[in-house]
Amino acid sequence: MLGRRQALGLAGVAAVSALTGCRASGVVARTSAGDTTAPRGTLAPSVIDRIADSFTPGPLATRRDLHALTSARSVLVGDIGVGELQACQLHADTSIRVIEKLTGIHLDQKYLVLLPRTSAEFDSWSHDRTADVAGDYCAPVDSSWQGWVVIKCAAAVGHGMTLLDDDDYLNSVIRHELFHANTLEDGDGGAPKWVLEGFAEWVASAIMIAFPTKPPPAVVPTDADFAHRPGSSYAQAFVFVAYLVDRFGQRSAIRFYKRATDASGGSTSHAFHAVFGATLASVTKDWAAQYKKQVAELVS
Ligand SMILES: [Zn+2]
Repeated sequence: MLGRRQALGLAGVAAVSALTGCRASGVVARTSAGDTTAPRGTLAPSVIDRIADSFTPGPLATRRDLHALTSARSVLVGDIGVGELQACQLHADTSIRVIEKLTGIHLDQKYLVLLPRTSAEFDSWSHDRTADVAGDYCAPVDSSWQGWVVIKCAAAVGHGMTLLDDDDYLNSVIRHELFHANTLEDGDGGAPKWVLEGFAEWVASAIMIAFPTKPPPAVVPTDADFAHRPGSSYAQAFVFVAYLVDRFGQRSAIRFYKRATDASGGSTSHAFHAVFGATLASVTKDWAAQYKKQVAELVS
């Protein structure tokens, strides 16, 4: 899920204390240049390195109750158990390989994934306070800053379990957010939510994990729908994107996604027609005609 942006104060050791949520006062970003202004929703470009450095030596280091794990492609920081952190990194690194191969987008920097143990910590490390949100991607506001993923480890997933108890669900949420991180470093180009969330859900195979008991109608959800009926909207967007992939092929679907999220790529409907050679309205109609059968196959 994409969340709202807000300031998170960061720099050197201060960054670590900010991440632990133990700063008593508000958030102030202090850059290496000594600038104390607080750009919104950002991590300073070198913060990821500073975090990693502050935990050296070794791939796993502990500071107070905060652990950090680094790999070739990711830095995971959290106060969950070390074994849980290692499991999350395995999911993250596998997802990064899969996603980068799929999109052809290779980020220079390591992906930063925050794993707070409690929901209160999630709220302080993320932008999205929606009660039922399971993760968030906090995008940078400009190219000199670093975005990060934060996972709501304590999110309830049913049967008295949290996200950490359900490995498939956890993997799906990590992959969903990392897809955002991979593709939205430079912004979302004003793309509608059905594009942003539908593709992230499809990449994460989220429908295999959670789908409304009563399938929602075959409607491409609007951004307003996502705000008012998130559960059904995510499911609808997933099923529509899965249809696009099935009908037009993965390569074309990703080409459309990249064009739709490119600020210079024109309107979504223009990008849709340019890539698929058909209008969004006509394809939506075709999709609706086979929706019931498609849903039955997907959730079976
Ligand atoms: Zn999302």
